[in-house]
Amino acid sequence: MAEFDAIVVGAGHNGLVTAGYLARAGQRVLVLEKRSIVGGACVTEEPWPGYRLSTFGYAAGLLRPQIVEDLELKRFGYRPILCDPQGFSPFPDGRSLTFWLDEEKTQQEIARFSKRDAAAYPKYLAWWDQILDQIEPILMAPPVALGEMLKRWTGGDPQQILRDLFLQSAADLLDGWFESEELKGVLASSAIIGTFAGPRTPGTAYILAHNNVGILDGHRRVWGIAAGGMGGITQAMARAAMHHGAQIRTHAGVRRILVEHGRAVGVETESGEFHRAPVVVSSLDLKQTFLRLLPSDAVDLGFRLRVQKIRNQGACLKFNAALDRLPHYTAASGPSRLSGALDIAPSVDYLERAFDEAKYGRFSSRPYIDIYHQSILDPSVAPPGKHTMTCFVEYAPTELRGTDWDDVRPQVAETVLDTIEEYAPDIRQTVLHWQVVTPKDIESILGMTGGNIDQGDITPDQLFSFRPIPGWTSYRTPLPGLYLCGCATHPGGGVLGAPGHNAAQVILADRSAAGTGSGALEKLSAPV
Ligand SMILES: Cc1cc2nc3c(=O)[nH]c(=O)nc-3n(C[C@H](O)[C@H](O)[C@H](O)COP(=O)(O)OP(=O)(O)OC[C@H]3O[C@@H](n4cnc5c(N)ncnc54)[C@H](O)[C@@H]3O)c2cc1C
Repeated sequence: MAEFDAIVVGAGHNGLVTAGYLARAGQRVLVLEKRSIVGGACVTEEPWPGYRLSTFGYAAGLLRPQIVEDLELKRFGYRPILCDPQGFSPFPDGRSLTFWLDEEKTQQEIARFSKRDAAAYPKYLAWWDQILDQIEPILMAPPVALGEMLKRWTGGDPQQILRDLFLQSAADLLDGWFESEELKGVLASSAIIGTFAGPRTPGTAYILAHNNVGILDGHRRVWGIAAGGMGGITQAMARAAMHHGAQIRTHAGVRRILVEHGRAVGVETESGEFHRAPVVVSSLDLKQTFLRLLPSDAVDLGFRLRVQKIRNQGACLKFNAALDRLPHYTAASGPSRLSGALDIAPSVDYLERAFDEAKYGRFSSRPYIDIYHQSILDPSVAPPGKHTMTCFVEYAPTELRGTDWDDVRPQVAETVLDTIEEYAPDIRQTVLHWQVVTPKDIESILGMTGGNIDQGDITPDQLFSFRPIPGWTSYRTPLPGLYLCGCATHPGGGVLGAPGHNAAQVILADRSAAGTGSGALEKLSAPV
């Protein structure tokens, strides 16, 4: 008998969620992680003594509440902190826009830019609520085809929804609602996060929905941070999985997935250990899983070619810093507006221009930056009186034309600081240490191909029944015994946990239908 019922490759948050659900159902689970810590793109690390930074992912909110409840993550140490204000955006002319939890207060802010937009804003949010009513229930189950989804759509003309939400660009969608360039710029920034697309790229309207599904403390469409950094989430997930009996091993990179008689039967680690199980679950993207960890004849050529075509160009980098004190943002009267996202996204044109440069292999000379000073709401992440700063910076293509990311780190840091300096003139005096995490780093540290933060762009052509590959959306793969649970699968990237949850449900259903006989499992590994 195999030592384990299931082996999970990679201890990112989705791998941990899958492990948690499988272990909770009584399966013997082994999780193998190549790094020294669990969490994948959802970790806290301490690059400088006393400064605990969310190296990759930095804003919490998307994690599905059902997972928090099922795996009792709060009992195991997860503590979300809701941001209020949610966001603050300074503009070159010295004005600013603050997004409060209180929508009426936000309306008053918007009125300073356009009274018409202020009046439209509650209707815009109500429109999103209707959309989210349809989207939220389909996140925690294998996807339905887009056509099917539209057939079931209630609350709005499905053809109009198809056009507005799935086919339009974010810029077109926002032009239909608002006139203020400042407001549209800030809102459009949520449509480009992590995706190699500009706000005028068709399909980006849907990304607004993807980044709007956050629920925290009963609030909808919101973001927060995790106490102790993003690692606070994955540490709790690891504790939950281990509580139910899962074994988690770090420094245990998987070199290859073992295939015998046409099915996955286990793994070999980088150190040459062999582990066997009737179920192998990869939380890695499809290029890593099928083109690197499996022999080329494990699946047919047609499938491999479709894997190669998945778009996972890198789009962003991180600039993380230890600060001596908080910078003074000229447009903010004190730190009270700085505890959420600080977005440098003054207009749709600004964002599109930043993308233009990346299209031709350059780092944006004036990038979009999403800044968080987590230490304001969570002083535990910095030494007393000091602060942290994480900057999500776009656009950063996977490959730079004529140079390499390793050669341009100092210039990248200068560009980020120059950009912030236009809004916080003392930024340079506050920075004690900094690090630049490039798309190449994201790929080499985490194995996310191309440095794409979602294991594949989350535009509609790569979502729902197209994710990860049409015909293979059920978390099963053409190789019997092998499943996928990472954010390459439905519903996609971000710290949602939904892919991990859904994969576990499919595996448990297959295990239950098959009893413990491995032969029966093969029959169930059919495309859906
Ligand atoms: C820079 C950046 C910023 C982001 N910002 C946010 C944000 O603010 N909010 C948000 O919600 N989302 C954010 N995201 C997206 C989100 O973090 C990811 O989509 C999500 O964490 C992916 O989780 P996963 O478990 O599917 O994959 P991963 O986190 O990639 O996990 C895969 C795991 O597998 C391990 N691994 C790789 N190869 C092997 C191997 N051969 N053997 C064993 N282990 C292996 C990796 O080390 C990793 O731990 C960000 C991501 C990045 C990179």
